[in-house]
Amino acid sequence: MSDRVALVTGGSRGIGRAIALALAESGASVAVNYASSAAKADEVVSEIVATGGNAVAVKADVGDPDQVAALFTTVSDQLGDPTILVNNAGITDDGLLMRMSVEQWDRVLATNLRSAFLCTKTALRPMLRAKWGRIVNISSVSGVAGNPGQGNYAASKAGLIGFTKSIAKEVGSRGITVNAVAPGFIATDMTDALGASVTDAAAQQISVGRLGTVAEVASAVRYLASDGASYITGQTIVVDGGLAL
Ligand code: NAP
Repeated sequence: MSDRVALVTGGSRGIGRAIALALAESGASVAVNYASSAAKADEVVSEIVATGGNAVAVKADVGDPDQVAALFTTVSDQLGDPTILVNNAGITDDGLLMRMSVEQWDRVLATNLRSAFLCTKTALRPMLRAKWGRIVNISSVSGVAGNPGQGNYAASKAGLIGFTKSIAKEVGSRGITVNAVAPGFIATDMTDALGASVTDAAAQQISVGRLGTVAEVASAVRYLASDGASYITGQTIVVDGGLAL
């Protein structure tokens, strides 16, 4: 991937961080986007640079159209136009539907789904020019199977799967693939927030008997972003250790 520029949204922590490191390890120059964790994003950049790679950290709320426009301008100026886009930034704000506010719904949908629309739309022009592109959307098993208390989150993640298939059909003939990765329970800040009793109970439902690691998700993304995955598009790869079987 040495001639590629990759943009990973939400690359400062968790799964996005592992994806940024994996793409850099494969030779891509990587833009590490973040919303507020500047120090964490800088750490990812330092780690990449320390191993001879090229990376920049760029702050932007990817649910906001103006900030997404500024994000792409900065990335293009500092690294070049990205032809690998990983729409990874995501949040949860769980609650049973009867108690869910409009703000809770809108915030999760904006961060998880509107962001993919904004970033993909902006990224497509240079990808079309390059006649090559890789877009990977980070969905979730919640979007595949649903999950009580996650009406907003599951809707955003299911939306990403429909979005993935639609855009794959729009740009498939132009050398651009669009796929989704749907992780199950992966050990990150997001799952830490659930508490040990929830994650221990979840582990018992997982065929391999444990939570996944961020590196296990990143390796699927790295493959989909590679030249070798050129005939795979519109797919959702479930990386859940056999949870949703
Ligand atoms: P995480 O540890 O909470 O990290 C979330 C990342 O998203 C951070 O880098 C955060 O930036 C960034 N972010 C949040 N809101 C943003 C915004 N408005 N604009 C730009 N960046 C924003 O989460 P994670 O567990 O790694 O999850 C990453 C993705 O995988 C999410 O889409 C999540 O839904 C999905 N996923 C996770 C799991 C799991 O088990 N962990 C399972 C299925 C799917 P700051 O550091 O600046 O806050």
